[in-house]
Amino acid sequence: KAHTGAISQLNGRLNAYITVTADKAEAAAAEADKALVAGDAPALTGIPLGIKDLFCTEGVRTTAGSRILSNFVPPYESTVTANLLKNGAIFLGKTNLDEFAMGSANLTSAFGEVENPWHRTGDSSVLVPGGSSGGSAAAVAAHLAMGATGTDTGGSIRQPAAYCGIVGLKPTYGRCSRWGTIAFASSLDQAGPMTRTVEDAAIMLQAMAGHDPKDSTSADIAVPDYRAATTRSLKGLRVGIPAEYRPDGMSEELLAVWQKGIDMLREAGCEIVDVSLPHTKYGLATYYIIAPAECSSNLARYDGVRFGVRAEGATSLDDLYEKSRHNGFGEEVRRRILVGTYVLSAGYYDAYYLKAQKVRTLIQRDFTNAFEKVDVLLTPTAPTAAFGRDEKPEDPVQMYLNDIFTVPASMAGQPAMSVPVTLDSKGLPLGLQLIGRHFDEETLIAAGAALE
Ligand code: GLN
Repeated sequence: KAHTGAISQLNGRLNAYITVTADKAEAAAAEADKALVAGDAPALTGIPLGIKDLFCTEGVRTTAGSRILSNFVPPYESTVTANLLKNGAIFLGKTNLDEFAMGSANLTSAFGEVENPWHRTGDSSVLVPGGSSGGSAAAVAAHLAMGATGTDTGGSIRQPAAYCGIVGLKPTYGRCSRWGTIAFASSLDQAGPMTRTVEDAAIMLQAMAGHDPKDSTSADIAVPDYRAATTRSLKGLRVGIPAEYRPDGMSEELLAVWQKGIDMLREAGCEIVDVSLPHTKYGLATYYIIAPAECSSNLARYDGVRFGVRAEGATSLDDLYEKSRHNGFGEEVRRRILVGTYVLSAGYYDAYYLKAQKVRTLIQRDFTNAFEKVDVLLTPTAPTAAFGRDEKPEDPVQMYLNDIFTVPASMAGQPAMSVPVTLDSKGLPLGLQLIGRHFDEETLIAAGAALE
């Protein structure tokens, strides 16, 4: 009730939820009460969560932040949300996001912009929550949910977590099933928890993760006890500091928070090691070829015929496709479909897509080499703190620079987590990113707990 009350009070301003399922949640809470009294309650019994509106939820509208899915009510439940329900969680509603999870500021949702609950000291200007899981991040930060699901393709869990001062964990690619999660870029998309503490992230991930035969890229690897990792000793853990994550012009404040994180981990018994990931500088360019290419293919299914919004007054089948897609998709999604179609087209495929795939392999090798010397990497999560809604860059490529520190781990499928470490001089949260070996979320959780 505290959460549904807070939602009715604050969601009008924050716009963190697209759909609120308060009645359903209160009915589920009554059931949870009974289960708790009976004493056979699973780990998340009664825990109220927000669900990014990219996870299909049976009988509850799922929009992906897009006009084209504004009337879509899935007939099935995604594996990740089904796992959470099985563990007793209660869903408060569906959280806002950049359309089809494409963006870094929650400015592209067809259901309006999300407001960051944080403000600069003495300044009431509205700040963006980051993106694309900005609704989830704002909801968790403002106590409109105890935790929320996010998805991360190139940083969409970690960057909004950093902007809103919460924890965001992108697991290893394959750790959580993608089945029933609306696809953006299938070789990169990964679901994960967004919470107020590292321990909460561990508990939530435990429930979300696991092998799923319905997703061929889901890994058949046992899920360890993540919560136990929060109290693990860090003595002798080798923490790598990659030189390439220190680009020219990095702010003094960001350098200071990075140093603070290094000192905290050293104090906890870690050994700090300088490492190099030489292909980092190609990360963004490569991502912004591969992600749009996959998106152009994934979004081909929205044709106004089988589901989603169908344009009125079409005069032929082609006209129906064109009108439905033109009216249904926003500007950023259209831009990505065009770029993706271009880089995959005959004549450009070798020059762009194939080249990008080769560079992706080099980026992956950088991580493999680094993890021969160290157990985990520590970097900033984003190049700045949350910026003002009015300060958003006009040039879309400028906006893509936000992803500079998060994209390489995505390209290589590494697990990565953002932890809020300090406030900047204007009173805004700054986060640091930990990147781990494949399927070693435990080390992220152990080191993350030491950064809180
Ligand atoms: N900001 C990145 C993009 O727009 C990442 C999005 C995401 O991780 N879903 O592609």
